[in-house]
Amino acid sequence: MSNHLDNPCFECGQCCQKLRVSFYHGEVLHDQSGELIGAVPPDLVTQITPHMVCMKGTETGKQGCIALHHDDQQGYRCTIYEQRPSPCREFNTLNDDGSINPLCDKLRKAVGLTSVRTN
Ligand code: SF4
Ligand code: SF4
Repeated sequence: MSNHLDNPCFECGQCCQKLRVSFYHGEVLHDQSGELIGAVPPDLVTQITPHMVCMKGTETGKQGCIALHHDDQQGYRCTIYEQRPSPCREFNTLNDDGSINPLCDKLRKAVGLTSVRTN
């Protein structure tokens, strides 16, 4: 999910609600020999294997991420946008070549939203 003004994600939020958002535990903020490493707040993750965690709420892909906020004025927003983990940074409406991300498109259509514009 990305956050920019007039972003189609504001009306959608589906990737934050329908996918398990898992990543290497090194991305979680922790103290290593007096130095802070990682960025994702540790109270927002669930350990799923010895080396992997997921965002709380996304364990089964049936609930929303704990960091997802929605209100009528602003729509869906990530409350830890600057600290979000790599899967969230890598999942976008468009691929690098400008084509539509097919999984994003599928998630949008499943809730009756239209495809994002490619220009
Ligand atoms: S599914 Fe696509 S449009 Fe919806 S929030 Fe995720 S990236 Fe944005
Ligand atoms: S951390 Fe933010 S962008 Fe990632 S799933 Fe949660 S709400 Fe969505």
